[in-house]
Amino acid sequence: MIFFDPLYLVVLIPTLAITGWAALRVRSTYAKWAKVDSGINLEPFDFARRLLDRQGLTAVRIEPTPGQLTDHYDPRGKVLRVSSSVGAKAQLSTGELERQELGFPPSGGRLSVAAAAVIAHEVGHAVQDAQGDRAMKFRQAIVPAAQFGSSIAPWLVIAGVWFQLFGLAIVGLVAFAAAVVFTFATLPVEIGASGKALAFVNGLGMTGERQDGARAVLKAAAWTYVAGALTALLTFLYYAYIVFGRRD
Ligand SMILES: [Zn+2]
Repeated sequence: MIFFDPLYLVVLIPTLAITGWAALRVRSTYAKWAKVDSGINLEPFDFARRLLDRQGLTAVRIEPTPGQLTDHYDPRGKVLRVSSSVGAKAQLSTGELERQELGFPPSGGRLSVAAAAVIAHEVGHAVQDAQGDRAMKFRQAIVPAAQFGSSIAPWLVIAGVWFQLFGLAIVGLVAFAAAVVFTFATLPVEIGASGKALAFVNGLGMTGERQDGARAVLKAAAWTYVAGALTALLTFLYYAYIVFGRRD
């Protein structure tokens, strides 16, 4: 029985540990730098617009999206989606809070270091898309195979082992390999976007400690992708083991 295989714990425990550590790290780093003013006197959406326009990407639209750390660039729709948490202001002054309690519309706040880093990273993806970045193209090309692989492959492997249909299990393994390749193909795209992001915020005068903060936020985010890739690889090795190592 694959579901109650004690060996699976050997995969599951490090996987949960790596993923949990990365998730905690990105949240705490983000929370820390979300409290620090970037020194860039723009609201988050205006900052995104300014960065895109500076790169000649005036056709890329900006939309709000619900949730925390859900910011992303959609290459198909050419839309940069900024999460409501990033869209929120760094810190409202007491005067501003009073103003809002009295029912006045917000007077506009300032951009946090964390928000600037995240938005600049997504603009980095928009630039990669416009430049026809090879790493990004490769990743986009394997999206369908990866989606298929990550959803159906585990079932093919399980069914193949269970019913002793070796061919079916191999098809499952190959399909899952596509999902693993995708997680690794994501790494250069993400690191590339963060490199561009740091150059952008530096160009807008975010230097010194604030730039270190932006780098810390982007690095923490990158670790979540590394964790995802390691998790996928470990899972693949486990499937390969149950297919090849347990045939008797
Ligand atoms: Zn990214």
